[in-house]
Amino acid sequence: MPARTGKEFLQGLKDDRHIWVGAERVRDVAAHPAFAGAARSMAALFDLQHDTADVCLMPDPETGELINVSHVIPRSRGDLGRRHACLERIAEFSVGIMGRTPDYLNVTVAGFAGRADEWAAHDNDRGATNLVAFQKEAARRDLSLTHTIVQPTIDKARGDVPSPGDEIALHKVGDTAHGIVVRGARVLATLAPFSDELFVYPGAPLAPGTDAYALAFSIPMATPGLTFLCRDSYSVPGNVFDHPLSSRFDEQDAFVIFDDVEVPRGRVFIDANLAAYNSVMTTGWMPNIMQQTSIRAQTKLEFAWGLATLMAEAINAGTGTGAEMLGELWSYAEMTRAGVYAAEQGASEWGNGVWFPDGRPFRALRGLLPLWFPRVNEIIRLLGSHNLLAAPTSAQLADPALRPLIDRFLRGAKDTTAEQRARIFRLAWDFTGSALASRGEQYERFYLASSGRAFIRAQTYAAPDRARRLIDRFLKEELA
Ligand SMILES: Cc1cc2nc3c(=O)[nH]c(=O)nc-3n(C[C@H](O)[C@H](O)[C@H](O)COP(=O)(O)OP(=O)(O)OC[C@H]3O[C@@H](n4cnc5c(N)ncnc54)[C@H](O)[C@@H]3O)c2cc1C
Repeated sequence: MPARTGKEFLQGLKDDRHIWVGAERVRDVAAHPAFAGAARSMAALFDLQHDTADVCLMPDPETGELINVSHVIPRSRGDLGRRHACLERIAEFSVGIMGRTPDYLNVTVAGFAGRADEWAAHDNDRGATNLVAFQKEAARRDLSLTHTIVQPTIDKARGDVPSPGDEIALHKVGDTAHGIVVRGARVLATLAPFSDELFVYPGAPLAPGTDAYALAFSIPMATPGLTFLCRDSYSVPGNVFDHPLSSRFDEQDAFVIFDDVEVPRGRVFIDANLAAYNSVMTTGWMPNIMQQTSIRAQTKLEFAWGLATLMAEAINAGTGTGAEMLGELWSYAEMTRAGVYAAEQGASEWGNGVWFPDGRPFRALRGLLPLWFPRVNEIIRLLGSHNLLAAPTSAQLADPALRPLIDRFLRGAKDTTAEQRARIFRLAWDFTGSALASRGEQYERFYLASSGRAFIRAQTYAAPDRARRLIDRFLKEELA
């Protein structure tokens, strides 16, 4: 089956999945008020790939059927450039607010399948073969995947990874005739209600003796024993004038419980194999996925800058401190663009004929972006001040008695009309001040680990040669 339409995507969500939100188990995700807005957006995204087929679709290398470009296993810099164009188009759809649109895992899984040689190491040939088959299936069925790589937190003092005997973290409890049985929990499945399958793969490296926790697999959302506890919905059903972002882009996040879940043998990619688990994430995964995440982040930053500039124009606040803050916003967007460019220009073959970008610019961005995004929100709120909360609704604008008053007292500077001003400031509040915006800030801080952890990794991997050479000149000078 080739790339799906929105209608086909929505049809796929109708199954026996256990999705909980608030007090209820949701039987029909696309019809539930908590999810309907984002379900419609996801469907529109599936349709978008057909509308932009020249950018977003490519022939499957084996069947010739059209599949999404984000499934490409990059084998040249040109492939990465082609993928860039598709990822950018997808990011623009939600102005970067939906971080885990299906392209995120399409890119991840394609990168893993391309490095099947790494997955096959440590006696994991069967897992690697399963993974390569799964990547083809995911592309051909155009699956929407959610994922979990992080163990739940019970007691921070015990560290990030489970100790032998830990009953909370996801672990294998047995074999069956058809596969393996897993039990435990994982965080945090973004996009869960809008996914076809849950893909589980390695996170932080595990300690010796914890082989049972060393797992990777993919299973359909409706697999018996699988429960998804969604956070409160931040979707605001209603018109797009009042809540332009919250009405559309709440991608959701869910805690996942595995209550003795059977994973079919053919879908197991790592089966209690500690060495495989601890090695497959250590090479090309980061630069590969960072192309997707950084293009999305750059799109969101450029949107933020554009929105803030319009805000400033609407109330004539774009000089002095206003200009300074706008320039700061632009700089974040531009540095991210430059980082992506540098990483793509520096792309090379990482092994097995697979090309990934240069990891260095991405390692720097990885630590900086979680710091930049909260500052972006702060700038928009500083620039907007009370104006963010003095933006009439569509119903107020439509009221014949109120409209003349609003037009008179709530217009903007120069020739900015009251309606234009309301649109700009409502959009800005939905971007920085709504419940969805607050979740978005939390996402940017943590979705690929905190800034602190990212900087530690950056320092670990940084090549010191040139820096040492620059310093050695002074340290090795002959004493006079
Ligand atoms: C909105 C959202 C969506 C998410 N979606 C997904 C998803 O789809 N799939 C998935 O698998 N995961 C997802 N995650 C989970 C995410 O992967 C983790 O939250 C992330 O890895 C951070 O781990 P943690 O929450 O345990 O926090 P920690 O990493 O423990 O960080 C908590 C605090 O401790 C500090 N800290 C901890 N350790 C260190 C250290 N060594 N050095 C410096 N500082 C440190 C950090 O600075 C931070 O302030 C999501 C998280 C959020 C918030």
